[in-house]
Amino acid sequence: MANRVSMKQVAQRKLSKSNELRSAGQDTIRRINQTMVLNYIRYRSPISRATIAKAMGLQRSTVSVIMDHLIQKRVVYEVRAPSASRGRVPYFLYLNPDYLFVIGIDVGLLQTTFALSDFTGRILLQEGIATETNVETFAGKLVLTLKPFVESARSRSRLDGIGIAVPGLVDNSGTVRLAPNLGWTNFDIGRILSEEFGVPIYIENVSKSSALAHLWQTDIQGVGRNYVYVYVNQGIGTGLVFNGRIHSGFSGTAGEFGHMVIDRRGPECNCGNHGCWEVMADNRAALQYYYERVPHNPGKELTIEELIGLANQGNLAAREAIQETAECLAIGIGNILVGLNPECVILDGELTKAWNIIGEVIEKNLARGVPGLEREHVRIIPSPMKQKPSLVGAISLALCGHFAPPAFHFFRVPSIEAEPIEVPAIAK
Ligand SMILES: [Zn+2]
Repeated sequence: MANRVSMKQVAQRKLSKSNELRSAGQDTIRRINQTMVLNYIRYRSPISRATIAKAMGLQRSTVSVIMDHLIQKRVVYEVRAPSASRGRVPYFLYLNPDYLFVIGIDVGLLQTTFALSDFTGRILLQEGIATETNVETFAGKLVLTLKPFVESARSRSRLDGIGIAVPGLVDNSGTVRLAPNLGWTNFDIGRILSEEFGVPIYIENVSKSSALAHLWQTDIQGVGRNYVYVYVNQGIGTGLVFNGRIHSGFSGTAGEFGHMVIDRRGPECNCGNHGCWEVMADNRAALQYYYERVPHNPGKELTIEELIGLANQGNLAAREAIQETAECLAIGIGNILVGLNPECVILDGELTKAWNIIGEVIEKNLARGVPGLEREHVRIIPSPMKQKPSLVGAISLALCGHFAPPAFHFFRVPSIEAEPIEVPAIAK
């Protein structure tokens, strides 16, 4: 009779199940409160326990339990404020920069930058190497350059993870599916590095990680938690942030607005379509609009910086070329506003150095109206970041897990191929 289960046992099982559920709920709430407390300290330090409790609407005792736990784990530390007058002298809380270290790697088309960062996101070491198109050569160089960074982190305390920003399509497994300008395909860079260094590796497309950097950086105001970051360079990349999280889409490739068609009679794009946004509005397009006005000798092409310099000096053709680019940028931004309803669009790249020209054209073109949108509530701004967003983004990829509460999701239960069962008729 070993398999028989008494009613009492069934009841006990039910009870322990409900306890499991209850403790999971409490654990989640504790984690959310803890990450919120950490964010208050990260953004507002020096800050006291009382101020955090008031701001979060929590009991002081609840905050104290969290704080004692964080202090014991050496995540934060507390310092007595210098006494200025009589009365109670508060203690101020700070993040412990040495709690852990991370490495951020920003893979650029020509140069790859490495940075060692402490727990607060402060960069302690930085180095650059040339980016290679051959993946095996590059992987070897990457490992070699990383070794002293990893040793430095481990000699200070511990290395918690490595974040990498890559100019290409990165899928949900962290594989670089395609980096067209580098000629990389299916480069499993994350597996190589995690096998070598034994820490989590976080890989993301450069536009998405630059978008994350704008959320991570504590001194940036006014971009909100729902915005689209647009990087204009040799192409256009976008990163979508909604509800304070990167939106990656089903397979991880969301944000390819550079290949949104804005004129089907437009020039051919690398992707095979005609009139993609990036072929009409990137740096190369701006130079092309200039050459359509001013014939030039092949081999004596301007750089985008030179074109912007000419425009800022009052050269009419250069100014018109940038205005035409801005008109095309405005079409794409208008589409983004219609489809995604962000609270802010952040533009980045060399062209933003001509904001006195492009800002005005974009505003004028968008003023014609976007259906159903209260335009005055949406900000279109040049990136306010002082540091390189892609490098800060790579660091924040590795750090943000400590400052983001666990996500809530509704589960969609997969369909089950159930065996047909006979449902007994209910006796009346
Ligand atoms: Zn395209």
